[in-house]
Amino acid sequence: MKPMAFTYSIVAPIYNEMGNIAELHRRVSAVMESSDEGWELLLVDDGSTDGSTERIRELAEADEHVRPIIFARNFGHQIAITAGWDYARGDAVVIIDADLQDPPEIILELAKKWKEGYEVVYAVRAEREGESWFKKFTAAVFYRLIYMITDVKIPLDTGDFRLMDRKVVDVLKTMRERHRFPRGMSAWVGFKQIGVEYKRAARHAGVTKYPFKKMLRLALNAITSFSYFPLQVATYFGFFSAGLAILAIPVVAILRMRGSEFFGGQATTLISVLFLGGVQLISLGILGEYIGRLYDEAKGRPLYIVREAPED
Ligand code: UDP
Ligand code: MG
Repeated sequence: MKPMAFTYSIVAPIYNEMGNIAELHRRVSAVMESSDEGWELLLVDDGSTDGSTERIRELAEADEHVRPIIFARNFGHQIAITAGWDYARGDAVVIIDADLQDPPEIILELAKKWKEGYEVVYAVRAEREGESWFKKFTAAVFYRLIYMITDVKIPLDTGDFRLMDRKVVDVLKTMRERHRFPRGMSAWVGFKQIGVEYKRAARHAGVTKYPFKKMLRLALNAITSFSYFPLQVATYFGFFSAGLAILAIPVVAILRMRGSEFFGGQATTLISVLFLGGVQLISLGILGEYIGRLYDEAKGRPLYIVREAPED
């Protein structure tokens, strides 16, 4: 028998989304059934502990469109997306948040652009509902900082919600880096890309799984994956302070010969030692960030461990 031809793979990473799974399935089904094309819904359980796993299994049993991928523990949102890429069989792969902040109805708008020939159609957050000013502010700073300092022009205000052609996903599947930033990776590969604006809704149920610490880690991953800028800052700073020191030598020498006490005293020495010591430690820390990542890559461990893969 010929394997069933799927057109769309919808991938939703799930970490403790008990209150959202049924509604997500209901809305995705309604949207996809209205389009009379083939589809599958990949629910990637990223080590949930709230009963989401059982809920996913139940859904998979009741609806053959649902394919569960269940991780052995929590590996993080980015890794769950990666598993989605790996298991997806569709001609187009859509990544969507499980909390319904990305309205499934937009999938058809993304698909329209795809059918016009675009290979990556990313959803741009024109408006965000129900998020704190702190979240919106840090997100805005984050997107702009990344845009400024990385070598890949990652479109502003886009999350992971996007549709990608099979060709693109096949390329992304070969990129096995451990510290990953999927939206950066999907910008890096090139292809024909376009954005579609949408209004980001409030969470359907539950709370955000991205505390400040995780956001910071994601930001660090984004920067280190796509830029050497932090490393170069240390070099710039070194040149700057060395240059300053060289200029200061004749100035201080002349002042001394004239009998001025201007740069004398312990405090001046202490301040400059502390300052340069601090800069050196920060530079070491930056180096450490990159070396730690290098070490993780060198270990070459699998990106995720699957306890239950889809049965087909
Ligand atoms: N998520 C995940 N693993 C994690 C954290 C989050 O799979 O370790 C999923 C989560 O279930 C949701 C999506 O990633 O479907 C986005 O997370 P969330 O809505 O908490 O982030 P926010 O929208 O607040 O930035
Ligand atoms: Mg969310």
